[in-house]
Amino acid sequence: MARIVAKFGGTSVADIERIENVADKVAREVEAGHEMAVVVSAMSGVTNKLVQYCAEVSPLYDAREYDTVVSSGEQVTAGLLAIALQKRGISARSWMGWQIPMKTSDIHGKARIEDINTKEMEKRFAEQEVAVIAGFQGVTRRKRIATLGRGGSDTTAVALAAALKANRCDIYTDVDGVYTTDPRIVKKARKIKKISYDEMLELASLGAKVLQTRSVEMAYKRDVSLQVLSSFEERVGSELPGTLVTKEEDIMEKHVVNGIAFTKDEAKITVFNVPDIPGVAAEVFRPLAKNNINVDMIVQNTSSDGKVVDITFIISEKDADTAVELLEKNKKLKGAKIRTAKDIVKISAVGIGMTSHPGVAQTMFKTLAEKGINMQVIATSEIKISVIIDKEYLELAVRALHDAYGLDKKKKK
Ligand code: ADP
Ligand code: ASP
Ligand code: MG
Repeated sequence: MARIVAKFGGTSVADIERIENVADKVAREVEAGHEMAVVVSAMSGVTNKLVQYCAEVSPLYDAREYDTVVSSGEQVTAGLLAIALQKRGISARSWMGWQIPMKTSDIHGKARIEDINTKEMEKRFAEQEVAVIAGFQGVTRRKRIATLGRGGSDTTAVALAAALKANRCDIYTDVDGVYTTDPRIVKKARKIKKISYDEMLELASLGAKVLQTRSVEMAYKRDVSLQVLSSFEERVGSELPGTLVTKEEDIMEKHVVNGIAFTKDEAKITVFNVPDIPGVAAEVFRPLAKNNINVDMIVQNTSSDGKVVDITFIISEKDADTAVELLEKNKKLKGAKIRTAKDIVKISAVGIGMTSHPGVAQTMFKTLAEKGINMQVIATSEIKISVIIDKEYLELAVRALHDAYGLDKKKKK
């Protein structure tokens, strides 16, 4: 007997037929004798619709009320799944975040889980009751509903798995595992059997939305064994058909590059003609930090006469207008010109083998040059290399790099 947390994403609970399919899968695990906590997302498209409703009523909405609205999709699917399980003769009940309680910080819209009380749930496991949990939501100290950021049900599942000391956390979705890149973009993408937490963390934070970044971070820290698998396949999680996210030492074969990730929602900002004196970079970035705007890939170039610099950096597209406003307002940057480019994408190659293999960057530069694609910004770290290019070349570049690193050819591991 194992204790398993299973999470079903939006497409897996998109309608009644699919919820019935989820109930069948949970029933099979229960029949095999496992204790089950099942986390559900809202039906696909529902959260987007709820977000849109808030913006329609007021673009400057109260974040606490936003959370009240957007968390509601998960309540519906949790209740429906509990009913579908009961119909199968399985004892089950739904749990909202506040009922558990799953306590979070009060940063509405991207709250962090602080504490989960699993006492009552565990008592009910002993009575063979399945717990069906609404993902994405928790409750703050002030007793307000808070949500965990888009894609947050993955984090609900991992946090619960850690708190319940579950044997495994199965993330059921619409693809049958983690691939070498988004299989919707590259048909030749290959499923990876085992991937390290480090690589998965990089892939997720660089745009592979199959797992929310925070969920991988938490799985890593709390040693949660994580599996990504399809809810549309016959096999259930206990048959281990998906991709296992695990410790590096459990992976026999290490690849130089293991995956390509990309993000489309970034903007490039260049501040031209800034005097080349100490403290000026701090003037550019201080107001951004103060306003919680994350900055990535900073590049500074000095003019040939050494008197001024240009500073280029990447931020999330949604923050671009605010950032420009803050920079323009800063009197200490008088004389500087600001340019924004929103038609850009970031493409990254990730692999733990990269540290010991020179030439990975060169392969990327050569491949993009052969396709006539210009790199606007480059950044590297131990296990990743990222470049910024024009949006129109995204698919061409991802496919070319996938081929160049031989990702379609490697043996499964
Ligand atoms: P869910 O609604 O189940 O949470 P998501 O849409 O959040 O599902 O995540 C699954 C999607 O992630 C897939 O449909 C796929 O298009 C995308 N994806 C991006 N990169 C990858 C990758 N490297 N491997 C697998 N899927 C990926
Ligand atoms: N329903 C939420 C969203 O669409 C949470 C999730 O699906 O993980 O972001
Ligand atoms: Mg998701």
